[in-house]
Amino acid sequence: MERLVENGFDFLRKAVDDLNDYPKFSIIHFHAAVELFLKARLMDEHWSLVISQRQEPDWEKFISGNFQSVSLDGAAERLEKVARSGLTKQELQSFREVTKHRNKAVHFFHEAHSEEENRGKLLSIVKQQLTAWYFLHQLLIRRWEGIFAKWSESIAEIDKKLRSLHPYLQITYEQIQPEIEKRKLKGENFCSCPSCGFESQQDESDKKVVYEAKCLVCSLTEKKLKLECPECSHEVVFTNEGFGRCENCGKNFEPEELAGELIDSGAAHIAFQDGDDSWDLGNCSDCDGYHTVVRTDDESYVCTSCFLSLEHLKWCGWCNEPNTGDMEHSSWAGCSHCDGRAGWEKDD
Ligand SMILES: [Zn+2]
Ligand SMILES: [Zn+2]
Ligand SMILES: [Zn+2]
Ligand SMILES: [Zn+2]
Repeated sequence: MERLVENGFDFLRKAVDDLNDYPKFSIIHFHAAVELFLKARLMDEHWSLVISQRQEPDWEKFISGNFQSVSLDGAAERLEKVARSGLTKQELQSFREVTKHRNKAVHFFHEAHSEEENRGKLLSIVKQQLTAWYFLHQLLIRRWEGIFAKWSESIAEIDKKLRSLHPYLQITYEQIQPEIEKRKLKGENFCSCPSCGFESQQDESDKKVVYEAKCLVCSLTEKKLKLECPECSHEVVFTNEGFGRCENCGKNFEPEELAGELIDSGAAHIAFQDGDDSWDLGNCSDCDGYHTVVRTDDESYVCTSCFLSLEHLKWCGWCNEPNTGDMEHSSWAGCSHCDGRAGWEKDD
């Protein structure tokens, strides 16, 4: 595992160094690095997880390097199901982009292109690498901190190196700045983007609604939600998930509590007395959240754990609880939170 991680850092360094002169290699190296870090995380769980689903794990072959390794999607699935530390949709999406780019790049740079086209290509590579790095960085220093802590110096060094690509994004920023100014005059808000650092992330001031905050420079999109802290009335911002902290008084929030804050308890109470079940707390098939889905003031539903938002919910035909998933066959097959009739008959 040590070797995997060290190689990962080597590839990242090369990805930055090669960017200008050998953009094709930069993409390939970056892609290799992302895969290595995911594999290192799997390896920390068990060595056999690194081997492709299509092969029987064999230690002898493994140590001699004679094996096919797991694909990105395969790795993501094992992180979720085996390591119980899966990637979020956004993380996976961003890493998939890297893979897609890698496959395309191999062809693109074989062909002859104009200077301008190459320049545009370069810019899109930088954007994508910075976004993917933003997610990878978060994984390494937060979710998987315990495993990668001893490389914190290398992580910081790479972070600095990738940030040095910032001037590339400056070009994009300058191009869209007039548009941002115009939109600000119309009353739109922009705040500083956590990935690229420019004041280019679209923001909303409405509270208690989940919105997509997209950065016009680097395209990072985050789901955000704002709330007035029930203890001190200060504004609390949640990003991509229902775990958050009030910067002012230090109060910590979890999805369950956020659900309580979001639900309009007056309306829910009246509905309950009328036998209206549309305000019942729902379960989330996307993140397995139990009773994390609430109906909000604007008649839509949001999962306070993963911030999935939906217009409608379906009711499970077996347990009769609302769920974000497709409930078509739920009477028989159940939902994310019950085993349906099939499970019940099996137990009998
Ligand atoms: Zn950005
Ligand atoms: Zn507070
Ligand atoms: Zn959810
Ligand atoms: Zn059910």
